[in-house]
Amino acid sequence: MSGERATALRSLPSVDQLLRRLAGHADIRGLTRARLTSLVRETLDQERVRVLADRTAPATAELLAERVVQRARRAGPFSLRPVINAQGVVLHTNLGRALLSPLALERLQAVATAYSNLELDLVRKERGSRYSHVEAVLRRLTGAEDALVVNNNAAAVLLALETLAHGREVIVSRGELIEIGGEFRIPDIMLRSGAVLREVGATNRTHLRDYADAITADTAILLKVHTSNYRVVGFTAEVSSRELVELGRERGISVMEDLGSGSLLDLRPWGFPYEPTVQETVSAGVDLVSFSGDKLLGGPQAGIVVGRRGIVSRLKKNPWNRALRIDKFTIAALEATLYAYEAGTALETVPTLAMLTEPLPSVRNRARRVVKRLAPDVRQRLGASVVDDRGKVGGGALPTVELPTAAVAVGTTSDATMRLDEALRGGDPPVVGRIAHDRLLLDCRTVLPAQVSLLAEALTVAASCL
Ligand SMILES: *Cc1c(COP(=O)(O)O)cnc(C)c1O
Repeated sequence: MSGERATALRSLPSVDQLLRRLAGHADIRGLTRARLTSLVRETLDQERVRVLADRTAPATAELLAERVVQRARRAGPFSLRPVINAQGVVLHTNLGRALLSPLALERLQAVATAYSNLELDLVRKERGSRYSHVEAVLRRLTGAEDALVVNNNAAAVLLALETLAHGREVIVSRGELIEIGGEFRIPDIMLRSGAVLREVGATNRTHLRDYADAITADTAILLKVHTSNYRVVGFTAEVSSRELVELGRERGISVMEDLGSGSLLDLRPWGFPYEPTVQETVSAGVDLVSFSGDKLLGGPQAGIVVGRRGIVSRLKKNPWNRALRIDKFTIAALEATLYAYEAGTALETVPTLAMLTEPLPSVRNRARRVVKRLAPDVRQRLGASVVDDRGKVGGGALPTVELPTAAVAVGTTSDATMRLDEALRGGDPPVVGRIAHDRLLLDCRTVLPAQVSLLAEALTVAASCL
């Protein structure tokens, strides 16, 4: 480092100096001292990086203190907070996937703020099972003999393989050895479970005889994995669940299917492509089916396993199950979500399904309402207009589906677009949109009706950066 820059850095105020300056400031009330200290550090770090890059003098203590206040005002006392999803990706893992229904929230709150019969059989006054609260409804909805719920679907796969195939072989098609996000790869999970992976077929084509030829005395499971987040197209062949079940029956080997998203509803009437539902997979005879609670199902984070009683009960007895277990909040929210499916109200009340099936004119109408709420000068400065676009389902579900959607487009130049994007992300609540062709698109399919005025306000505030 040059002497000049070292001197510049030394003239930055210290953390303590800034904290003293901030003492008693109205906008930082509610923040713990530790949190305020960390905001001060972040502000100083950012300035240090800037000084080194720009070779200019650091901002004054007064200006830096003001930046901390701005940060505090935006962030509030908490790190995890609501954002407006204007990306149009209905199941966005980084934005928290599924939103809960009002009923799920009500049940969650009821159980969170009072003691509950979580593990108490009220009739016998004996210890009960926490899973009993969702087992029966899962059996009724899926037609399976038994059910179990763990932390997430990755845990479900791990638990199933550890229980049924530790030290033995699992046969899986090469085209289904998928990675979902950075951390979840089917082959890695299998390795951790102690199962031995037997890949069969080619990337684009796998035939029943490939599975049949690979079976040995060591084979524990024939596994089928839903290729959630990608599609093999063109010259392809995969073996159906039913065919795999027939082979498994013939050779006395269990068949498991990781459905990934796992839907309980056939969404074809709303223009979505055919996807096997959980019920269909169970009725095809698959012995064990696993899927996520917070993808298309639209509930809390969970891994749901349904299947044959004898097999599910082995999973329940595995000590790993205790380590992967769900808490009472998940059970309360999941029970309420499943209730909506059984009551026939899921399409209206489960936000994921409501968003996916909302007709385009209704989405477009919401985008128009946002623009209407902008003052004429703000609208002009933003260059705001309503445009039709294509959105995504996300969450590793229905990757080829492009949802017709409507967005508020803002930004008159690429520079203005970048600045608006940054300002909106830094606002309160933060707004996350997507940039396309030098404009920032705020997709209204995932903007909740109750967020229309918030989004208009956020745009008004952001417009001042132009
Ligand atoms: C998403 C997904 C998983 C992981 O599920 P989580 O609930 O996120 O743990 C596993 N398998 C498939 C096929 C998936 O799509």
